[in-house]
Amino acid sequence: MTNKPPQDFKDRIVMVTGAGDGIGRTAAKTLADHGATVILLGRTVSKLESLYDEICQSGAPEPGIVPMDLLTTTEEVINEMAAAIDQQYSRLDGILHNASILGTRIPFASSSLNEWRDVMQVNFIAPVMLTRLLFPLVERSKDASVVFTSSSVGNKPRAYWSAYAVSKYALEGLALLLADELENTSPIRVNIVNPAATRTAMRAAAYPAEDPDTVKTPDELMPLYLYLLGTDHQGEHGELFDPRSWEARDR
Ligand code: NAP
Repeated sequence: MTNKPPQDFKDRIVMVTGAGDGIGRTAAKTLADHGATVILLGRTVSKLESLYDEICQSGAPEPGIVPMDLLTTTEEVINEMAAAIDQQYSRLDGILHNASILGTRIPFASSSLNEWRDVMQVNFIAPVMLTRLLFPLVERSKDASVVFTSSSVGNKPRAYWSAYAVSKYALEGLALLLADELENTSPIRVNIVNPAATRTAMRAAAYPAEDPDTVKTPDELMPLYLYLLGTDHQGEHGELFDPRSWEARDR
């Protein structure tokens, strides 16, 4: 992928959800490597702690850790987190909504209502809750960026991808709604990334027969993530990005 020159994220406070593994982990580490103070939100504390140690040992700004299960979280818990962020950092310059679960790929008629609820909660309702309740902090940034992570099946739901596809379709709708509302009233940028096939545990679960070496690594996505979450953007707003089309763009 074509690289833009590295941006300086010094003084940028960026939250990454699902920061313990996969694309979120690489994004959090990369943002920290570029000088950002990252707030690591995830459900497995040991993974967050090992990333915290890795970031601190690299000499990057000390990250924040927020252990939170997006399946069971409540408005009260998120409000407490928002108050803690307010106290420590007083604003948020970016949110990367990355955490998600795959659920089961299954014919619609056989799917379970409980799984619909769980997948919609983690992949769609949790980003709604976080974005709403963190909004006052995001509004305090001079140049905030909110990035929602979709999927190829989010733009056009595909047979058997069940609640995962519909949750991503809804997430894209939320991003476009928010982008339209903020278009002429706020400097906050809202965009969508479809990472497409990327070598992670989720990809391996979705395509168990695939040779992982044939799939790009999360590192290869990072120029796009840095571009969208930093200040080096060109006013990008309300757009859906995937790494291939972005790479091909004349920048
Ligand atoms: P991954 O390797 O499965 O990582 C997902 C992360 O989300 C993990 O850190 C996981 O926490 C966290 N998470 C899951 N449920 C959570 C919950 N209830 N509360 C808090 N955190 C939770 O997935 P990935 O492949 O990196 O995917 C990242 C994003 O890209 C997702 O939105 C996915 O839909 C999207 N995507 C990925 C691909 C691909 O090919 N990889 C393609 C298209 C879209 P734990 O570490 O505790 O499990």
